[in-house]
Amino acid sequence: MTPKIELHLHLEGAAPPAFIRGLAAEKKIDLTGVFDARGHYAFRDFGHFLQVYEAATEVLQTPDDYRRLTRAVLEQSAENGVIYTEAFLSPDFCGGRDLAAWRDYLAAIREGAAEVPEVEMRGIVTCIRHFGPDSARQTALCAAETAGDFVTGFGMGGNEAIGSQGDFAWAFDCAREAGLGLTTHAGEFGGPESVRQALDDLRVTRIGHGVRAIEDDALVDRLAEDGIVLEVCPGSNVVLGLYPDIRRHPIERLRARGVALTVSTDDPPFFHTTMEAEYAALNAAFDWDESLFADIARTAAQAAFCDATTRQRLLDRLDA
Ligand SMILES: [Zn+2]
Repeated sequence: MTPKIELHLHLEGAAPPAFIRGLAAEKKIDLTGVFDARGHYAFRDFGHFLQVYEAATEVLQTPDDYRRLTRAVLEQSAENGVIYTEAFLSPDFCGGRDLAAWRDYLAAIREGAAEVPEVEMRGIVTCIRHFGPDSARQTALCAAETAGDFVTGFGMGGNEAIGSQGDFAWAFDCAREAGLGLTTHAGEFGGPESVRQALDDLRVTRIGHGVRAIEDDALVDRLAEDGIVLEVCPGSNVVLGLYPDIRRHPIERLRARGVALTVSTDDPPFFHTTMEAEYAALNAAFDWDESLFADIARTAAQAAFCDATTRQRLLDRLDA
């Protein structure tokens, strides 16, 4: 199996449905409406997706739940040939942004990660845009206080329709000063201007999605020239209706224009995908072959928020 590096994965959003159902049964939590008849996560659109996501997340209540979640998620990554993954971690869901609680959750997540040695994991502490800038400040402080060999990045997810990227500049400045790598969701539901704002106002080096940059030629040139790396999640974009199918997805056009890009699954069980499925779809749609996938993995290793020794180890494994 091709060794893969995944840079855009929401820990809770990667929770296998069976794992969430099992935990809900243990805790006697009613999850009516969260799953469809086949046991998949059920949602109509992005707004509803966020609601279902938060309902499913409610069964994750203790640090040990997160240890088990991390293990379950990384076992799936390992099955897909992933050797390194960066997962978005949310102090909002892990202790309500309280620093002491966050430290307990983080220790448990690291324990879960250590139980799956096939996959090396790093955490990107992520604020949630629709919770607002004040919550983001608290999240950034949690990130800064725990920055180190495991927490290596800071990001923002959530509903792009709320506020602007610049509203969150304080949180990103705080994270930058703590030495964390920076990424934010943009150019998914927001247009090219949201990508520009992310670059100008938050000074990120990676963009979560960013694919709608394709609507603005000058912006595409800027991404290519500045070496901004896109965390592209084609399956997610298709399921959430950005593009009618993978053939109409701009990933190949962005690549042809010289934009550095990587491939990830975002919230894989929600979008009925896996890293293997993404690779297979790209191969079928655009004829991407092993050497191109190797380039993608090397780009991801170069863009990973990890130390130089880890990066070299990843590159060596990819070249082996
Ligand atoms: Zn995402």
